[in-house]
Amino acid sequence: MDHRGTNLPAVGEYNQTVVLDAIRRRPEGITRSEIAALTALSVMTVTKVCRRLLDAGLIDEHGMRTGGPGKPAAVVKLNPAGGFAVGVHIDPAAVSYVLVDLSGAIRDHSRTGTPTAGDATAVIEEMATAIDALITGSAVDRSRVLGIGIASPGPVTVDDGVLLNPPMMPNWRRVALRSALAEATGLPVLLEKDTTATVVAELWYASPGTRRDFAFMYYGTGLGTGLSLAGEVVRGVSANAGDAGHITVDPDGDMCTCGRRGCVGYVTVPRVLVERAVRDGVLSPAEVGNLDDMSDVDAALRRLANLALDGHPAASAILADVSRALARAIVVIVNLLDIDEVVFGGPFWASIAPVVLATLSDEVRADPALVSPDPVRIVESAIPVDVAAVGAATLMLDNTFSPRPSALLLTAE
Ligand SMILES: [Zn+2]
Repeated sequence: MDHRGTNLPAVGEYNQTVVLDAIRRRPEGITRSEIAALTALSVMTVTKVCRRLLDAGLIDEHGMRTGGPGKPAAVVKLNPAGGFAVGVHIDPAAVSYVLVDLSGAIRDHSRTGTPTAGDATAVIEEMATAIDALITGSAVDRSRVLGIGIASPGPVTVDDGVLLNPPMMPNWRRVALRSALAEATGLPVLLEKDTTATVVAELWYASPGTRRDFAFMYYGTGLGTGLSLAGEVVRGVSANAGDAGHITVDPDGDMCTCGRRGCVGYVTVPRVLVERAVRDGVLSPAEVGNLDDMSDVDAALRRLANLALDGHPAASAILADVSRALARAIVVIVNLLDIDEVVFGGPFWASIAPVVLATLSDEVRADPALVSPDPVRIVESAIPVDVAAVGAATLMLDNTFSPRPSALLLTAE
């Protein structure tokens, strides 16, 4: 099944993506000659492309601009309701869904329970139903839905859209999610590792030229890293680039699943911090609840952070160790890539951010291993809720707009 038969033009056509991208980046409106100047396309080509985009309802005309040399020129703007994309974020804790319009504005979102609850077939059925409900509930024109982006924990094989053996998801082994979901919904589906999707989202929402070389530290059930170099997301040979989890940050630390001690992706993750808080007598087992339930873990983590903010010594010690561990990993990543910005986000980040951010920059700056003489900016993601789900949706928008060679559309079989 595929999505032909709608009046949306084929996505990915180069001139069209260039023109659309120029229009989207100028929400106040832009004329055809301005587009031509920005894109180095001829006015004739721009006019032709604009006619096609107008016919397809992706852009609208908004009056004439006068002033300056030449005759009055028609102003075009993106039509936000001209297209929509669904983003799905699969996490060990929950599956989140968002519907975004062509301008990237979030129109609706929903959330269902943990996918570990059932087998893969049942989860795909549930996902198709949730996507259908999201599209129907938001009353958008279904024929305007460009497709579905999926952000999933790695490792993945992007070409056939398979989740290999995502950590902490025991029922998910080699699930051909992309084709199964395309079949179940009749929509094109893209699949990327969650951290890659977050980087695509950061690039999508950033003002042009402001965010180019950065690492995204995704603080979820586990710690993931996504990378952008020269404004391009780094996918890697197998689309699994950026896994920094096994960087050793504490040679005397707890044993990681890889058999080594003190890996950053082990010693900083929410569950391990909460376990340590219980061991150190900061939280009682009754306060913590069920460690297999990620909402319990998040609540416990928040409690731990609040105690640290109130000056509780043992709670502060745990989060000081987190800050030091993250700083050491950041220094390795920054040194390796010569980047100057690290972006933090992810579902558990907000719980520890107020404590960790108070010391993280200083920890990085004070690290004798840091090579770059320039300051490393440590910032938080601009996307307030579920950056990975929004990222998944922007995968599809990115394919519609982005003239970059790395944009790769995988259509439904
Ligand atoms: Zn390890």
